[in-house]
Amino acid sequence: MNVADSQRVSSALEHLGYTQTSQAEEADVIVLNTCVVRQSAENKAYGRLNSIKPLKERNPNLVINLMGCLVGVRSHDVLKKRFPFVDVFSPPSDPAPLMAFLTQSEVREMEVDETATRYAYMDGDLALPEVDRGSLVSGFIPIVYGCSHACTYCIIPYRRGIERSRPPEDILAEARSLVRQGVKEITLLGQIVDRYGKDNDAYPNLSGLLIRLNEIDGLQRIRFLTSHPNYMTDDLFDAVANLPKVMPHIEVPIQAGNDEVLANMKRGYTAEDYRKLVARLRERIPGVSIATDIIVGFPGETDEQFMDTYRLLDELRLDVAHLARYSTRPGTVAARRLGDDVPEAEKMRRFRLLEELQEQVIGEINARYLGQRTPVLFEEKVKNRWKGRTPTNKLVFVESQDDLRGQLLPVEITWTGPWSMIGKL
Ligand code: SAH
Repeated sequence: MNVADSQRVSSALEHLGYTQTSQAEEADVIVLNTCVVRQSAENKAYGRLNSIKPLKERNPNLVINLMGCLVGVRSHDVLKKRFPFVDVFSPPSDPAPLMAFLTQSEVREMEVDETATRYAYMDGDLALPEVDRGSLVSGFIPIVYGCSHACTYCIIPYRRGIERSRPPEDILAEARSLVRQGVKEITLLGQIVDRYGKDNDAYPNLSGLLIRLNEIDGLQRIRFLTSHPNYMTDDLFDAVANLPKVMPHIEVPIQAGNDEVLANMKRGYTAEDYRKLVARLRERIPGVSIATDIIVGFPGETDEQFMDTYRLLDELRLDVAHLARYSTRPGTVAARRLGDDVPEAEKMRRFRLLEELQEQVIGEINARYLGQRTPVLFEEKVKNRWKGRTPTNKLVFVESQDDLRGQLLPVEITWTGPWSMIGKL
């Protein structure tokens, strides 16, 4: 989501005549786009802010824009006091405050025409930043902003605001625009992406949107994330199974495998519900790969409850598990009511156990690809090898002197490991 947001800011800045620099010291404008989903991410943002501060002291004309979930959608008076050297504060996904600031103070000197103040990122006609134009293979399109769920651990609804679906015309226009600029694969984004359209009767649902995106000429692949177990409907399964461009890869977090912990998280399903969902996904979408998220050390999680998660993960044999150690987030229900009673060392122990288990599981799943032929969409060259992905989102590296960027080619897999595979054209 932040990568997508940052691309939009870059694009908007280029509309005003700015160009990218890789040297912070050279910049006239620095945008720091932040994440606060865990304390570690928030700390990183503070660290970066502190490293930018001296640049402002040396160059008072430097414009510093703090953006994203550290700012949030509510008042940022506290941040203003704490970081007086920041010029502009922007909520997530919103380049407008920065654009307003820059056009007021610099529009005359830069002699940009009227259109510069029209925000391309808002009306669906998205110009990719210069560096990405013609080279970006896989692009992101946010389709639902914010989140109105209240998982007790999660800060996102407080910082990204209530759930808002974007108009389908904007999404389709943006997809076509990305394809014109060389993009071959689009990933639709939302905190609960399957809830797309639920806030507006005039909009299609996610499967309806996928049907329309599938018709775009030149677009090769469509993905979406993140799903929630309670909102995945049969028509969505059918869309994934039947639409040739929609890839058989589902990101659907379980978070915990114990019912009491799930209830305390207010996730709205049981371990058995999730087990059934996985079975249904596998039945309806042959060859589907499934990714999940898990939090260890949620307040009150006993060792026995954790072991339920461990055993379920062992049983389900999923393709990816994004693991996180619980981190108390200000303002959340868990922070207000539940404390943080699992010691850090114990969280780490549980994390490592799942990590080891999952490494073994993925190693076994991926080994089944050995000797198989699979279509790979190539994205970029890393050292002397081309990097691409299978329909199931597995990373594949292939040695080739040719320019494979953006090409979708059959690859025979010659080596597999838990994190990547090697193949030949
Ligand atoms: N809305 C998406 C993504 C949420 S953030 C979803 O429902 O999955 C991505 C992941 O970060 C979550 O799935 C969760 O596993 C993790 N996460 C969120 N809040 C957290 C917290 N307070 N501590 C640790 N991990 C957290």
